[in-house]
Amino acid sequence: MIELASPKSCTACQACVNVCPKHSISMNPDKEGFLQPVINREMCIECGTCQRKCPALNDLRFTPKEQRAYAMISNQDRTLSSSGGAFSVFSRMILNQGGIVFGATLDKNLQCRHIGIEDVSDLFRLRGAKYVQSDVGSTFLEVKKNLLKNRKVLFSGTPCQVAGLYSYLGKRYDDLLVTLDLICHGVPNQQTFNSYLNKLASAKHKKVTDFQFRKMDSWSIIPSVKYNNGKWERLDLWENAYMDAFFKGITFRESCFNCKYCNLNRQGTFTIADFWGVGGGAQPFKKNVAQGVSLVIDNQGKISDYIDEISQLAYIEERPLSEAVEKQHNLKLPMQRCPERDFAIRLMLDDDVSLFEFAKQCGLPHKKTIKHFFVRTVKNMIDRLGLYNLYKTVSYKMGKTS
Ligand SMILES: Cc1cc2nc3c(=O)[nH]c(=O)nc-3n(C[C@H](O)[C@H](O)[C@H](O)COP(=O)(O)OP(=O)(O)OC[C@H]3O[C@@H](n4cnc5c(N)ncnc54)[C@H](O)[C@@H]3O)c2cc1C
Ligand code: SF4
Ligand code: SF4
Ligand code: SF4
Repeated sequence: MIELASPKSCTACQACVNVCPKHSISMNPDKEGFLQPVINREMCIECGTCQRKCPALNDLRFTPKEQRAYAMISNQDRTLSSSGGAFSVFSRMILNQGGIVFGATLDKNLQCRHIGIEDVSDLFRLRGAKYVQSDVGSTFLEVKKNLLKNRKVLFSGTPCQVAGLYSYLGKRYDDLLVTLDLICHGVPNQQTFNSYLNKLASAKHKKVTDFQFRKMDSWSIIPSVKYNNGKWERLDLWENAYMDAFFKGITFRESCFNCKYCNLNRQGTFTIADFWGVGGGAQPFKKNVAQGVSLVIDNQGKISDYIDEISQLAYIEERPLSEAVEKQHNLKLPMQRCPERDFAIRLMLDDDVSLFEFAKQCGLPHKKTIKHFFVRTVKNMIDRLGLYNLYKTVSYKMGKTS
C-alpha cells in the first residue's frame, strides 16, 4: 500500500498533491493544526508517483556549485521589506521581463498562502516575512504551466517548498525559473496563528484587522497589530507571545526539528536572508546597516547572468561565505525540539486559555518589571525623537544584531 512521508518528516510541501494524476491527495489539518497529506484510497491507482516525488522520502536532487555570498540593498524597496529587499530586486527583474512571481501573502482574512503576481504594483502583497506556514495550494501546477509557455517565473518560499517544487518539476528550468529559498528558522501553523489572533482580540475587546510580523523600515523584529479602530499598535510582553514562542521554537512543525535544509546544501537558485553580522569580520562593510541588509547566496553560479539588471536595482557587494554562515544558526543546524513544544501548541489552541496565561505557562515575557519598564521607555523615546536608525547603527557596531 502506498504510504507518504510520516507526520514527523512531512513538510507539507504539497509536491505529492500537485503531482497525483488522479487528484486523490488532499491536505487535512492534524490535531495540532498542521496540514498532512491524506490519500483517498478509492481514487488512488497505486502508481507510486507521489512517493517518488516526495522530497522527504528521497535524497535531495541538486548539489550547489560555486557558492558565493553577497550583501544586497535594494534602491527602492529596502524600507518596505524585511531586511534589504532582495526578494523585491529579483521580483522586479522577472516582472520587468513579463514574468510572473510566486510568493507568500497574508490575505484579507489573515490566512497565509502562496499566490502569483504579474505586476510590480502587487509586490506589496508578497513583501514581508510571515512567520506562519504558507499553504502552497496548486502553485506548483501554475509554475509549470507558465514555464511551458516559455515565460520567466520566480518562486520564493521556505527551502522545503522550493525542494518540493523542483521534485514536482523534475528538472531545474534554469533559463526560465529563478527560485529563492529563505534561510528558515521553522514554521508554526495557521490554526495556531488564528488562535493567537482570537486570544489577542478577546483580551483587548477589539477586532484584529491586520498584522505585521516585522518593522519594515529596519530589520528589527517588532511585530504590530491593527485593530478595528484603524490604529497600528506595537506588541509587547504577553501580547507578543506568538513571536516569542516562534523564537523559542515551541510551536513549530515536527519536520522543522529534523529539517534537511538547515545547511549549505541549498536547492534554490539563490538563498535569501537577513545578513546578520555583515562587516563583523576582517572585511569592513561601509554601507549603513540600520535599515536592513539582505544576504544573497548564489547557489548555482548564476548571478553573473543577472548582474546588469541587479546593479540597476540595488547595491550589491561580494562578501566572504564564512561571514554569511557565522550568525545563521539555521545554515548549520535545525532548531532543537524543546520539551514544552506539545504543551505550548495545546495551550495556544485551547480557547479557554488566555494569552497572558499562555505566555506565563510557557515561560515567555509577560510581566512588567523595572528593567522592562526602563528599556521600553528608552525605546519609545528613541522612536519618538526619530533616532531609531542611529540607535540601530550604534547597537549593531557594538555587536548586537537583532
Ligand atoms: C518562516 C520564516 C523563517 C525565517 N527564518 C529566518 C532565519 O532564521 N534567518 C534569516 O536570516 N532569515 C529568516 N527568514 C527570512 C527573513 O525573515 C526575510 O524574509 C528575508 O530576509 C527576505 O527579506 P527581504 O528583505 O528580501 O524581503 P521581503 O519583502 O520581506 O520578502 C519576503 C519574502 O519571503 C516570502 N515569505 C514570507 N513569508 C513566507 C512564508 N510564511 N512562507 C514562505 N515564504 C514566505 C515572501 O514570499 C517573499 O518572497 C525567515 C522567513 C520566514 C518566512
Ligand atoms: S511530498 Fe511533501 S507534502 Fe507530500 S508527503 Fe512528501 S513532504 Fe509531505
Ligand atoms: S499512488 Fe499515484 S494515484 Fe495514488 S495517491 Fe500516489 S500519485 Fe496519486
Ligand atoms: S525549518 Fe525546514 S522543514 Fe521547517 S519550514 Fe523551514 S525548511 Fe521547511
